[in-house]
Formats: sequence, structure tokens, C-alpha cells
Amino acid sequence: MTTIEHWQATADSLRPRTDLLIGGEWVESRSGKRFATINPATGSAIADIAEGDDDDIDRAVAAARAAADAGDWAATSPRDRGQALIRLARLIEDNGEELQLLETLDVGKPIRYSRRVDVQQAITTYEWYGEAADKLYDDIAPTGPDALGLITREPVGVVGAVTPWNFPLMISAWKLAPALMTGNTVVHKPAEQSPLTALRIAELALEAGIPPGVLNVVPGFGETAGRALGMHEDVDAVTFTGSTEVGKLFLEYSGASNMKRVSAETGGKTPNIIFADAPDLDFAISAVGFSIFWNTGEMCIAGSRLMVERSIYDEVVERVAASTSGWMPGDPLDPATKAGPVVSTEQLERVTRYIELGSEQGATLVAGGNRALTDTGGYFVEPTVFADVDNQMAIAQDEIFGPVLAIIPFDSDEEALAIANDTRFGLSAAVWTQNLGRAHTMAARLRAGTVWINNFDTSGIVAPFGGYKESGLGGKDNSLYALDKSTNPKTTWINLGRGGF
Ligand code: NAD
Repeated sequence: MTTIEHWQATADSLRPRTDLLIGGEWVESRSGKRFATINPATGSAIADIAEGDDDDIDRAVAAARAAADAGDWAATSPRDRGQALIRLARLIEDNGEELQLLETLDVGKPIRYSRRVDVQQAITTYEWYGEAADKLYDDIAPTGPDALGLITREPVGVVGAVTPWNFPLMISAWKLAPALMTGNTVVHKPAEQSPLTALRIAELALEAGIPPGVLNVVPGFGETAGRALGMHEDVDAVTFTGSTEVGKLFLEYSGASNMKRVSAETGGKTPNIIFADAPDLDFAISAVGFSIFWNTGEMCIAGSRLMVERSIYDEVVERVAASTSGWMPGDPLDPATKAGPVVSTEQLERVTRYIELGSEQGATLVAGGNRALTDTGGYFVEPTVFADVDNQMAIAQDEIFGPVLAIIPFDSDEEALAIANDTRFGLSAAVWTQNLGRAHTMAARLRAGTVWINNFDTSGIVAPFGGYKESGLGGKDNSLYALDKSTNPKTTWINLGRGGF
């Protein structure tokens, strides 16, 4: 296993890209402003990044539009576009160690996971869409003999991709790969907390032969660069992942501008429901830890509401509280570390405020509750567990996006369903039971885009991912379902000359 010393030395020698990539050129922002991207494990700046705003988004959209109009991407054969995405996947693999380290430094992800999860997922995604590119056929409508109705899938044109900081490489790949595969050009605005891998991916995309202007990257802040992309009159679609609040803003931007298509993958408050007849309680309890403490709980699907049938409630509370010792945070560059810091001072304040609220509103703190490793300057929080939670408490209703678990008891299937569905979110849910009928009934009645039975977070590029209710709208990520977000079905009627008006 590579050592912490190796990673520290490699980190010292990294020279990340820090400018905007517009039309295939690395450029300064028009304002000349820069912002620091911070290593959350130390609180120190990694690099100063060019700060894009309205003017830069204008330039990037113009470059993307010019590339779309030039037609040398959309008009390329699907096979050639696919091959370019596959070359990009190979380049990500070849540069995997660098990307792994950039991601760990930028967002505090443990180095042991950033390669095998984040880098690997990005590879899989570009490869999967690259392979699919020349295996899709269009449709012919079932008309009578007088007409031929062709239904062809066309790229929407210029796609704005706005992404979060919790899985920067992976979620950007989910946005970029299907949009590029179908012949769109893209302006990507990564989260201000995590611009580094987005810039490197764009550089690799050029090397892979994706033409200049097809993928542009403008780091910057949400209220400026993000808003400018959402409001832009010449952007045809926005694909967004982030908070529900900002997802709703993109709907407003669309309405206030050119009615661009908006797809949004947003927040979650996943109920993880353990019945007394769970097939393997040891496995279920280890999955609980993973569901809320892995990635420091900064996951839209985090199993932040653990619901436990009353007859096993005390045992589960005790065992989950004890299991937190395995999720104590450490230096993300140490290959032994399983949990890193939260991403920023804002996130640290948010998480600690919710921990205070949990106690104030009457939940019982059974593990954690404090900051950790404060001498590092980093934003570390202990894995924290509250028991005796009422589903109306803030810690059960709001998305905390940190390592804070709320445990709620229940007495019947109906009560479990009522509590689980009593949320504005609907991203995912998990159910642990040996009863097949109960498993199917719960899966059908849980209002969530994904339901796991006797597991947590089984996932893959082959199946659509996205939420119900305020967890998302306008299309799914992953699989061929994702293509609907950046393509239009066009109908062409051809008169075959036998009929008439
Ligand atoms: P965020 O909403 O604060 O930011 C997401 C992106 O939107 C960033 O690029 C940000 O710069 C931009 N943005 C922020 N304010 C904006 C504004 N006023 N106008 C335009 N753009 C703006 O979210 P985050 O804190 O980066 O990420 C955490 C959130 O993402 C959580 O709510 C989480 O559940 C969600 N998320 C959802 C999924 C999913 O697939 N459903 C996956 C990962 C994360």
C-alpha cells in the first residue's frame, strides 16, 4: 500500500491547472479575480483559481455555441464521438494517481477511496457512454401507408453543467459524458470548493481529441457564474446536481430567461429501515455506518434517518453507537483513514449547528457530537449518533450533509412507511427484512427514486439514478435514461404521396 509520505511528497510536487478553459485556451477571468481553493484537512490554500463570472460565462457559451454551429462534434459519427470518450476514459486511468490526489486534497476524501471509487466511476462512466454511442437506433412511427414518421434524437445544443463538491469527478462525469456522447457542447461550472479535477478533466478531454470549444470549464461562485449560466439566453439546457434550494433557483432562472430545459438532482433524507427479521443484523449494522459516515456523510443518499423496529431498537442503538469508533476521522492522505474532514468552514458550522439543535430539541446523543483533530486546522467532526429522535425534529427533516445519524423507533409496517415518507425528499430508501411480501410492498409504497432491499447503495451506471419529490426533476443520471436530458426527439413527417387533404 502506498504510504502517507508518498502522498505528501506527491502533493508537494503537484502543479494543478488554475485558469478557465474557454474555446480550448487557458485564459484568465476578465475581472482578473482569483479565489483560493482550500484543503479541508488543513485549512490552507492549495491554489488560487481564476474566478469566472458573467463575462466569462458569456465567452464560454459563445465558444460552446460556435463549436455547436461548426458541427465538427455533433456531425461527427457517433462512433468517432464514442471513441473520443473512450480515449478520455483511458487518459483518466493513465493519470489516475494525479486525479485521485487532486480530489483528496480539494475535498478531503480519504485517499484509499478516491481512486477506487471516484476515479474509477469517472472511467466507467466515460467508457460506458463511449461504448453506447454507436449502438443506439432512432425510431419510425407506426403510421399507415400514406406517411413516414421519423423520430430522431437530436442534441439540444449548448448544455450548462453545474456540479457539487461531494463527488466532483464522478458527478461531473455523469453530467458530461451523456451530453457529449449525444453531440452537445458543454459549459461546466464546478463547485467553488472543488474546481481542480474539473480543470484537469477538460485538459485530458482536449488530449483525447474532443475539439476545442466542445467542453469549456468556468470555475466560480454559484451566485455569479452559476447564476449567469442559469440565466443565459443561449444555453439550451442545464444539468444540475446540488442542493434543493439551488435546484429551485435554476427553475426560476429558466422561467426568467429562455425556458431552457432544467434537470436537477438534489437533496435527500434517506430512511434506512431495519425490521426485526432483517436477514443479517451484523451486516445491516455495518451498512448503517457506511451509509452515514462514509464520505463523512456528505452524500445525497446518506442513510441519515435510521428507523428500527422497536423489539430490536435498544440493541441496534447500542451497536451503532459502538461502531462509530471505526469511523473516527483522520488525515485523508493516510491510506488507513476511512473518514476525512467535512468540506469547508461553512459545512463545519452547519453540521455543528445541527448537532446542537438535536440536543436542544430533545434527542439523546449516544455517540460523538464534537469537533475532532482541531490542532490540524482541518474541519473534522466526530461520527455522531442521536437516538430517540422524533421525525419532526430538525435533524430528521433537514439534510445535514455530515456524519450525523438520527435513530427513530417504529412499531408497525404502516408506521414505518408513514415516517419514511414524511419528508420533502424522495431520493432513496433502504429496507431490511426477510419477508418477501413486506419487501415488495415497502418498495412499492416508499416514495423514492431508488429502494435498496437488504443492502445500501448498490448502484451502477446501468440503472437510472434520481429522486422523487424535492430530490429532483427533469430526468435521471446514469444509463440511457440520462440521454433524455440533453436530447430532443424530432419528428419528421414524409408524405408518401398516396393521401392528401
Ligand atoms: P449547492 O447547491 O450549494 O451547489 C451546487 C452547485 O450550484 C455549485 O456548483 C454551486 O456553485 C452552484 N450554486 C450555488 N448557489 C447558486 C446560485 N445561487 N445560482 C446558481 N448556482 C449556484 O450544493 P453543494 O453544497 O455543492 O452540494 C451539496 C448538495 O448536493 C446536497 O444538497 C446534496 O444532497 C446534493 N447532491 C445531490 C445529488 C443527487 O444526485 N441527488 C448528488 C450529490 C449531491
